[in-house]
Amino acid sequence: MLDYTFSQDQEILRASVREFAQREIAPKIRQMIKERRIPESVFQGLARMKLLGMTIPEKYGGSGADAVMTGIVAEEIARADPTASIPVLFLVDNAWSYLVSKYGTEELKESVLPAVASGKSLMGIASTEPNFGSDIGSMTSYAEESGKNLIATGEKAFISLVRDIKERSGGFVTVLKTARDKGTRGVTLAYLPYDEKKFEVTYTEEMGREGSSWGSFRFSGIEIPKSNILGKLNGGFHIIHEGFEFARGLISVISAGAAIKALENGIEYMKSRKAFGMPIGKYQGLQFNLADHVARMEAARTMGYKALWTYDQEQKNGTFSRFEVSREIAIAKLISTTWAFDAINDALQWQGAYGYSKDCPEEWALRGIRSFQLAEGSREIMKLIIARESLGKEFIR
Ligand SMILES: Cc1cc2nc3c(=O)[nH]c(=O)nc-3n(C[C@H](O)[C@H](O)[C@H](O)COP(=O)(O)OP(=O)(O)OC[C@H]3O[C@@H](n4cnc5c(N)ncnc54)[C@H](O)[C@@H]3O)c2cc1C
Repeated sequence: MLDYTFSQDQEILRASVREFAQREIAPKIRQMIKERRIPESVFQGLARMKLLGMTIPEKYGGSGADAVMTGIVAEEIARADPTASIPVLFLVDNAWSYLVSKYGTEELKESVLPAVASGKSLMGIASTEPNFGSDIGSMTSYAEESGKNLIATGEKAFISLVRDIKERSGGFVTVLKTARDKGTRGVTLAYLPYDEKKFEVTYTEEMGREGSSWGSFRFSGIEIPKSNILGKLNGGFHIIHEGFEFARGLISVISAGAAIKALENGIEYMKSRKAFGMPIGKYQGLQFNLADHVARMEAARTMGYKALWTYDQEQKNGTFSRFEVSREIAIAKLISTTWAFDAINDALQWQGAYGYSKDCPEEWALRGIRSFQLAEGSREIMKLIIARESLGKEFIR
């Protein structure tokens, strides 16, 4: 049975978040770009709307939102913030809080989740290192057992929200090697709270996402209670993909939301801008280009929600296998992030010299949305997943 409509609850959520995002986020983007940080009032608004940590169960103060509900909010935030800075905060915080809610010990959940759900703390993901990104099995950050603790030493790089977590408190779902010779079977996920005394932070300047923060942190001999482990010791490799898949699904609808807004801006410009005595929207050269994007937009947005829905079905009642979910999510992220970049680039082109200026939202969006062809799994890794599910894993090197 197919049903392509959103439920009444989903429509109500969308309408309230759209109203909030257009009123409290969209007018502050220029200020955010200038100050290179998310305005405090936006943080407060997101917390007041209970959108930070919304995937956390009600027992710990969240709303227990599923992936589709979270995707609806993500899309609306992306329509309001084309730089992708606030969408990144939203998606990382929610996807990785979900993983802690699902796999954390009761002790960890009680100590960490209420603060995340109220917006006082933030949740990040620290997987990438200076010498690896896609190839998780080759990481070097290491933790060894010592009584009730793990003692961890290493460095994580290109990590989103580093400054936000340092300033507001919170921590990272951190990927650590716990058995050196076991490849991906020697990988553990643990919640690592930000520690002012033990973290050495370095910031990295980004191409876009002006309100966001990005950087590296080193840690040496840091004690992590074993109760902070998600799932089992050496059992992190499988569960980390549930976090990545949630995040990738959200990125699909965020990319679609930002690009739909760019097309809307481009359409307005085409209707009003005249060249050679006519609105430029009357020229078939531009109409065909627009039509291609509208068609690809429908495919990208529909696939994004289908992927999130598939994720929910697997999480709630096991209707799909993990491999089926990986495939749907990889297709959605690949289609949406590549199309969104193309659509924003063409919407910028339709707006001529103004499009290339720093005043044009498509200039901000182009640089911010580009990040999603890498973050939370590159477009090549999405293709590897799709190929693996098409050919069989014996064809993947
Ligand atoms: C804006 C931004 C935010 C990020 N935020 C975070 C964060 O919060 N936390 C975090 O842990 N990481 C974060 N990352 C890092 C991101 O997850 C990595 O960039 C990504 O996983 C790719 O890893 P890499 O950059 O090390 O590239 P590599 O893995 O070294 O790959 C280099 C290139 O080779 C390609 N490649 C690799 N293997 C294959 C293969 N088998 N076949 C074909 N091509 C291949 C890749 O697709 C890429 O194009 C962020 C990255 C960006 C750009």
